[in-house]
Amino acid sequence: MNLYDLGPAQLEATLGEIVSPSFRVKQIEEWMHVRGVDAFGAMTNVPKDVRAELESRFTLAFPKVLTRTVPASDGSQKYLFRLHDGQRIESVYMPMSDRTSICLSSQAGCAVGCTFCVTGFFGPGRNIVPSEMLGQFYTIQHEKQIPAEQMNVVFMGMGEPLLNLENLVTTLDVLYRNMSPRRVTVSTSGIIPGIDDLARLEKRPNLAVSINAPDRKRREEIMPITAKYPLDELMASLRRFPLEKGRDITIEYVLLAGYNDSKSDAVALAKLIRGLHAKVNAIPFNADPNLPEWMKRPNDTAIDRFVDTLVQHNVRVTVRRSKGRDIAAACGQLRGKEIAKSRATREQPLRKASEPASPTASRR
Ligand code: SF4
Repeated sequence: MNLYDLGPAQLEATLGEIVSPSFRVKQIEEWMHVRGVDAFGAMTNVPKDVRAELESRFTLAFPKVLTRTVPASDGSQKYLFRLHDGQRIESVYMPMSDRTSICLSSQAGCAVGCTFCVTGFFGPGRNIVPSEMLGQFYTIQHEKQIPAEQMNVVFMGMGEPLLNLENLVTTLDVLYRNMSPRRVTVSTSGIIPGIDDLARLEKRPNLAVSINAPDRKRREEIMPITAKYPLDELMASLRRFPLEKGRDITIEYVLLAGYNDSKSDAVALAKLIRGLHAKVNAIPFNADPNLPEWMKRPNDTAIDRFVDTLVQHNVRVTVRRSKGRDIAAACGQLRGKEIAKSRATREQPLRKASEPASPTASRR
């Protein structure tokens, strides 16, 4: 058993059966949840025989880093991790002037199938367990030597976190040992039962919701999950989500040129979220060879027009112009490149000279 798969209370109970006195349990918990060590040998104030006993029963293993991209001009860097069963997941390190965000994956694939997302293109993957989510976090924190008080965590990488709720909540409980829930954000495609479950938590993370179109028809075209969880019901779930003073819901909106980026789209979005404590994060689309060719990033004039229109309608808005753009920071793109490469290698001997080189050409 990996001890990082246990929440704080479970860990204390499990260790309490083996380790005494009780302050030793606290020491071990601190080595894990505060310092994030991945070996019992690192627990230097714990007696050797206790460490050996723990070693014989448990592990503290984290996913292994396969690749780190070269840092982008803004310092952001993407990590590709290998899980114990060979699955691959991505995380992103995003430094900013006053704080640092780490974007974590919650599933090794995604069944939601948003059409603008490479992870969605490659289909479902298994749920990631707490040791694998925390492993992404501690590995990057150690490498970058970031003090906990300067860190934010966002579950905005591969997967739909609210379809892996139990593991997510255990992970959140451990993260809260290092940071306030206000520094943790869970981003969802709009899984209404999951939003309601989050609403019932005593310690709630920030909520971000991927909206991407101001009406049901277009949202259903690019986010098939809308058929199951319609936009009006989703908005109702956001309106009943409890928010403490000073907290907002983030409305994520991927801007696609000529599709959802017009002035009237901005007006419709402002109307849709009116009365909600919300801010909009506009994200210009990141092109990828696996995604539909018609999907393009709007030019700067169109982005400015969209943002200015929201501001004129009293909507607070930020725009993610270049964070990690040159390292393919969008969800699943690095893993997508790896998968495409390995498929291309496998298919090479079978391909005739006249056939397209892209291993995914038939699906596009
Ligand atoms: S955007 Fe998120 S929810 Fe949608 S397919 Fe990609 S990983 Fe899944």
